[in-house]
Amino acid sequence: MPELPEVETTRKGIQPKTQQQTISHVVIRNASLRWPVDLNLINTLPGLVINSVTRRGKYILLNTPAGSLLMHLGMSGNLRIVPLGTALQKHDHVDIELANQHVLRFNDPRRFGSILWQDQQDGTPLTHPLLAKLGPEPLSDDFNGDYLFAQTRGRKVAIKTWVMNSQMVVGAGNIYANEALFMSHIHPQTLANNLNQSQCDTLAKNIKRVLNAAIKQGGTTLKDFVTPDGKPGYFAQSLNVYGRQDQACLQCQTPIQKVVLNQRATFFCPHCQPR
Ligand SMILES: [Zn+2]
Repeated sequence: MPELPEVETTRKGIQPKTQQQTISHVVIRNASLRWPVDLNLINTLPGLVINSVTRRGKYILLNTPAGSLLMHLGMSGNLRIVPLGTALQKHDHVDIELANQHVLRFNDPRRFGSILWQDQQDGTPLTHPLLAKLGPEPLSDDFNGDYLFAQTRGRKVAIKTWVMNSQMVVGAGNIYANEALFMSHIHPQTLANNLNQSQCDTLAKNIKRVLNAAIKQGGTTLKDFVTPDGKPGYFAQSLNVYGRQDQACLQCQTPIQKVVLNQRATFFCPHCQPR
């Protein structure tokens, strides 16, 4: 599933060919995504200029003077830039054609992705219900040890579950939550309320660190997002605990353990991350 680093890399990949471009034509071949794509977009988008390409959580936003197009990659979606007239591939559901003779093409085999329109003036706060409740961006200054400490007081939920709650902080997906907790020597089942200030400082820093490392790695595969037949393979990462059940901890050789927490696979080293 595309996580925040893949989405951010996608945003960076499509930005040069889409920003400041006028939408010339829209093709919707299959509107049955997670939510039906509004067929009126065929009429409302052409003529609009994409002023900026931004990201909020795992949504990529094409911001125009009349509103923003919200695009989510779901489980298996990808966006790529292709020259106008490029042959279609299976699951190419939506094309946004641009005046520069390029197409922003949305492909999604499993169709859990979404393309939604939010009417609003450019520059005003995003009010779409899917965005309104999102917590701070993990890489922003708003997310730090003080925020984490304040927001976890009174929360008797496992810290890993807290970290993965997008109302608390967006984009810390399962891999990143597992890895950041390992780096912070915090057991994933520790109750959020029991973390002290220093642990919160460390955890906030490590969440930023794992996400930044993945985005940096993604930069090297950026070309995948702009070639006609590029497949955006998800980033191969060097992982300490995720997916390493029964293998030796890279720091202390203790076998990595796995539990299921809030229905998500959870990996930890019982020695490095004591309960
Ligand atoms: Zn260990």
